[in-house]
Amino acid sequence: MKFGGASLAYPKDIYMRAEIVKKYSSDNEIVIVTSAIKGITDTLLDMIENAVKGRKDRMEKMFLTIRETHIDTARLLGLHGDKLDTILLYLGELEKIIYSVYNLREVTPRAKDYILSFGERLSTWIFTETLKKAGINAQFFTGGEAGIVTDNKYGNANPDLELIDELIKIRLLPLLEEGVMPVVTGFIGVDKSGHITTLGRGGSDLSAALLAYAVEADEVWFWKDVPGILTADPRIVEKPRKISVLSYMEAAELSALGAKVLHPRAVPPLMRKRIPLRIKGYLKPEDEGTVVKEQGGKWSQVVKAVTLIKNISLINIYSTFMVGVPGISGRIFSALGKGGVNILMISQNVSEANISILISKKDLRKALNIIEKTIRDIGFTEELSYEEEVAAISVIGEGMRGTPGIASKVFTAVAEKGINVKMIAQGSSEINISFVVDKGDGEAAVRALYKRFNLGMEKT
Ligand code: ADP
Ligand code: ASP
Ligand code: MG
Repeated sequence: MKFGGASLAYPKDIYMRAEIVKKYSSDNEIVIVTSAIKGITDTLLDMIENAVKGRKDRMEKMFLTIRETHIDTARLLGLHGDKLDTILLYLGELEKIIYSVYNLREVTPRAKDYILSFGERLSTWIFTETLKKAGINAQFFTGGEAGIVTDNKYGNANPDLELIDELIKIRLLPLLEEGVMPVVTGFIGVDKSGHITTLGRGGSDLSAALLAYAVEADEVWFWKDVPGILTADPRIVEKPRKISVLSYMEAAELSALGAKVLHPRAVPPLMRKRIPLRIKGYLKPEDEGTVVKEQGGKWSQVVKAVTLIKNISLINIYSTFMVGVPGISGRIFSALGKGGVNILMISQNVSEANISILISKKDLRKALNIIEKTIRDIGFTEELSYEEEVAAISVIGEGMRGTPGIASKVFTAVAEKGINVKMIAQGSSEINISFVVDKGDGEAAVRALYKRFNLGMEKT
């Protein structure tokens, strides 16, 4: 069971989530994964930034917010004495480190991960103690202690699946058999030299998937503030419907294409061992939620969901030199890959004179430099243009594979709203159709498709 930040926002939330765990604990062996309390990872990041910039007042204000949040939460949950001492110890350590960052006006990626780890270490400690108070035989673990070993790509570390599988089996399985409930910090692991790493934003989902993989769980449950995976982001459309069943492929595409509800990296480990993932709403714990498994259910619904990605840039490369010359796009893409630029979508014109690439906005400058250099090295003249901020919309569903006419419905619905489509892409999987529009048109396009494909609560 994984509890994200939103499900641990206030002391009463933590108390109620512990009650849910208790309810299921009599009939199940459970491993718990927890994220930082809502907003804490963002506050830690802001605090680091202010320390680096020498803004002492702001840094201290953020530290105090973090300190008070955790102390108040712990006290309200009735944690006193040595239970509280551990929290104070963590906070003392955090305070020392943030002042070092401030004095140096510098933070290394490794130190940043170490600082971020306090969010999960504090919340998980509090949750473990709350579970104990509820009569559960819970035991606290950091990701590293549980066996989550990664490479040293700080900020977005890659798990070593084989080693993790082995270590977690050794460390956690005997405890489960003895009736202990391990409670593990999400988001963080440890590299082979013993330094704390983080798995990227939203990475607790990956932590949970790794633990499920290693203990060979019957199911993994993500508890959410929404009743399951919905047909669209509830912050964009009114009353999206809950999707009952999704295939691993659909869930992976959905999360990679912008649905924040699930981290894309969490899907592959589960898929490998065919462990079903259930997204459940803690407001109605008895509801089935959404199950993600091998088969995505009946294809009654061709288009299951629509997603939106914001804060992305579009780069267009145009050159008649590219026509019929093999390997040019390959060189551009591998140069971008080596430079650490993640390509979200690609489309190439049939004439081959034009390639469009979609990347994260934060990578724009770097990507432009890399592309310019690669093109110069290849030695052809080109026209390079870009748009700094666009939006990408995707419709997703396995039933689209081989069903003709979906694309025309998508683009007619968008055109009827007067929205201009800048680029179209369809992956080889054929379970999504994606396109790019002006940043201001993104949400309107989502709403148009939501209506066109009847994705609301009331089926028409
Ligand atoms: P957690 O903190 O538990 O990891 P997240 O905040 O990452 O939870 O994800 C849950 C949120 O994702 C929901 O509150 C909702 O606003 C948002 N969301 C975006 N798209 C979807 C979708 N298609 N289905 C469900 N939730 C979505
Ligand atoms: N606390 C981390 C974050 O905010 C990890 C997570 O929530 O999954 O990104
Ligand atoms: Mg999340």
